[in-house]
Amino acid sequence: PLRAEGFEKLEKVGQGTYSSVFRARELATGRLVALKKVRFDSVEPESVRFMAREILILRRLRGHPNVVALDGIITSRSSSAIYLVFEYLDHDLAGLTSDPDVSFSEPQIKCYMRQLLEGLAHCHGRGVMHRDIKCANLLVSSGGELKVADFGLANLFTPSAASAAAAPLTSRVVTLWYRPPELLLGATAYEPSVDLWSAGCVFAEMHARRPVLPGRTEVEQIHKIFKLCGSPPDDFWRRSGLAHAAVFRPQQPYPSRLREAFAGSMPEHALRLLATLLSLDPAARGTAAAALDAEYFATPPHACEPASLPRYA
Ligand code: ADP
Repeated sequence: PLRAEGFEKLEKVGQGTYSSVFRARELATGRLVALKKVRFDSVEPESVRFMAREILILRRLRGHPNVVALDGIITSRSSSAIYLVFEYLDHDLAGLTSDPDVSFSEPQIKCYMRQLLEGLAHCHGRGVMHRDIKCANLLVSSGGELKVADFGLANLFTPSAASAAAAPLTSRVVTLWYRPPELLLGATAYEPSVDLWSAGCVFAEMHARRPVLPGRTEVEQIHKIFKLCGSPPDDFWRRSGLAHAAVFRPQQPYPSRLREAFAGSMPEHALRLLATLLSLDPAARGTAAAALDAEYFATPPHACEPASLPRYA
């Protein structure tokens, strides 16, 4: 079993809602790790329950190259804390896309996008929806491997038939800029397709080099979505039954201007995949596995290999 004494804490690299993350060195091997710490005497009793769920989910997802690997768990009585031990990854996609010194070619974007979709297909195949896909949660190794991280908001889902009877889900998940319209409208029954919307936002962001739907409030967020992707048809508003539909229905319908917005920076097959992922109708987004079969990945220029991606400083 791993022990806290076996690690030297180097510095804090992240502060989340219920945990802090440290870079640390495993003394026996010299290897760098990320330690995610949750105090079990925390003022927020929910935090232990969240961590238990995160552990359960990480174990269920074990063994995929595009999902961050949980190496072990340490309980430390002296610091009243539980530590999750992860392999340490040097970069995340938020840092890389916002770095003016880093540029992405289409083969590089295709390589990252393929890895993201492979990771998501694995999660969804194992009954896990991530519910917080964004560039900051996509870690990148020095060898160019992309790994989906932070399963702190993830949840298990029950496929199709059982879902009508399933307990209602919270619509307060997914960071605002990456949150799909059905959640903004208050849906409490939703599907892994929420992650595909977020993946679409990441895809567009890699081309635009900035977040593409940066709303400051929920109202502003849904209006930014409608302005870019168009607004739903009349019968949607009549039938939706979604909690916030009446509040968010625009005065007049918006047409989609996704093509105009990205035609200059994305090739045709990329635009088509983007339009699929950013479908207002969750069912029209398809699945992560179907997205991997899109023409985009079969058409030159092909994705480069992770190992040939640039090694960032
Ligand atoms: P929270 O759920 O508390 O937000 P995260 O798992 O997202 O925690 O981690 C917070 C931050 O810590 C991340 O944004 C990232 O900067 C850093 N981090 C997390 N895991 C790793 C890792 N395996 N390697 C390197 N940095 C990491």
